[in-house]
Amino acid sequence: MNKPKIVILGAGYGGIITSKKLEKLLKSGEADVTLINKHDYHYITTQLHKTGIGTAADRQIAMSIPELIDISKTHFLKATVTHVDTDNKEVQLEGGETVNYDYLLIALGFEGQTFGIPGVKENAFELRSFRSSKAIYHHIKKQLNLYKEDQDPSRLTFVVAGGGFTGIELLGELADGLPKLCKEHDVPFEKVKIIGIEAAPSVIPFFPKQSVEYTTEVLRKLNIQLITSTKILGCTADKIILENKIEVPAKTLVWSCGVQGNTIVQKWGLPIEKGKLAVDSYLRVKNTKNVFSIGDCSLFMKDGKTSLAPTAQVALQQAPVCAKNIVASLRGESLTTFEYHHKGSVASIGLSAGVGKVGTVRLSGLIGSFMKLVIEARYLFNLGGPSLILKQHFGVNREQV
Ligand code: FAD
Ligand code: NAD
Repeated sequence: MNKPKIVILGAGYGGIITSKKLEKLLKSGEADVTLINKHDYHYITTQLHKTGIGTAADRQIAMSIPELIDISKTHFLKATVTHVDTDNKEVQLEGGETVNYDYLLIALGFEGQTFGIPGVKENAFELRSFRSSKAIYHHIKKQLNLYKEDQDPSRLTFVVAGGGFTGIELLGELADGLPKLCKEHDVPFEKVKIIGIEAAPSVIPFFPKQSVEYTTEVLRKLNIQLITSTKILGCTADKIILENKIEVPAKTLVWSCGVQGNTIVQKWGLPIEKGKLAVDSYLRVKNTKNVFSIGDCSLFMKDGKTSLAPTAQVALQQAPVCAKNIVASLRGESLTTFEYHHKGSVASIGLSAGVGKVGTVRLSGLIGSFMKLVIEARYLFNLGGPSLILKQHFGVNREQV
């Protein structure tokens, strides 16, 4: 008898942890598992602001997928998914190859949301993937080099759109990392302007008042200019256009005004709500028995009424339940209901400050930034044990440990 085929699309937070859980749950020879991802590396999205400014080494952020999984149990395929045909239980890949499945997990993550604002897609940068964050780093270096030739001040103006967690983490990192980059390029840091633009009356508008005040104060102390209550209406390669007819001459705009689910999933004839794959309490795409979806491309309604924020925390809590339910489905056993427990949120503002809330405790300052490091370290530990932490942070190979 043919073994059931389990196919996982996406090796981000949700996909890679599900595949690692399946390695543990499945008996030898019980199923064939294939993990498909468009790159052969997994990246730590929660640290992309560091790659964007060069304050973390590439190896700390991006890691080889075949080294993270057990390749004797999971087959890894580096490929871009273009279509899923649920009638024929077939995944189509760029280049024309197809992969058949009996059980499918769609964990294809998120895309930046530009709201159709003119010029953003063409001219702004994003912290969306490892590659897009490296593009920011190379662009900044290019602007520093060109400034030496033409002394154009707009090359030294770095603008971040959106003052959510992504925006404040990047603003803090720019303030921390630019002095060193300027020095390396022999450009006076005093001439650099870092500007954050937020449509709401404050940065992190969804957080308690004291945390907002603390964050605003830290950003101001870092000499970051905050423009709040102001929407960005458009941009070109040389300027940003604001709603009150103000134009900011700048050659760098990083767009961090929110995310949406990967829009590719909308074209597959599966139930879509709010642009995402609607899933039931077992994380199965509604109206299906063999297609699961987790993370940012899926919509799970907590208590049937509230959607969950697109966070790694959600994807990481869903992954073990999803793995369990895939195995239960193929064994004909009963499925487990997913329940989300919010543990808190923490954002860094450069190396030495952070802001967040864990349980009922508000965090700020060094303890906030330390907490973010602890969360990252715990994730690396779950992904690859202590040897991965050593390898990522100290460049030590597994063989040396
Ligand atoms: P992803 O992690 O996005 O993984 C999707 C995977 O699918 C990727 O590997 C991608 O390459 C692959 N893929 C996409 N399309 C295709 C295709 N067509 N074919 C093949 N492969 C494809 N959340 C937190 O909880 N804490 C944080 O501190 C935090 N920091 C963040 C910082 C930034 C800058 C951003 C943008 C987000 C942050 N988030 C954070 C949110 C978090 O990163 C996401 O919620 C999380 O990545 C979602 O996980 P996922 O598995 O659904 O998708
Ligand atoms: P977000 O939606 O949280 O924030 C986007 C901000 O952009 C909002 O404050 C919004 O008012 C503003 N905005 C929207 N349109 C605008 C415009 N035209 N001009 C100016 N401002 C505009 O998005 P995000 O910060 O990218 O976060 C995405 C997801 O990732 C969230 O779920 C977030 O919690 C998560 N995340 C978590 C962390 C962390 O936990 N440390 C870090 C980064 C991201």
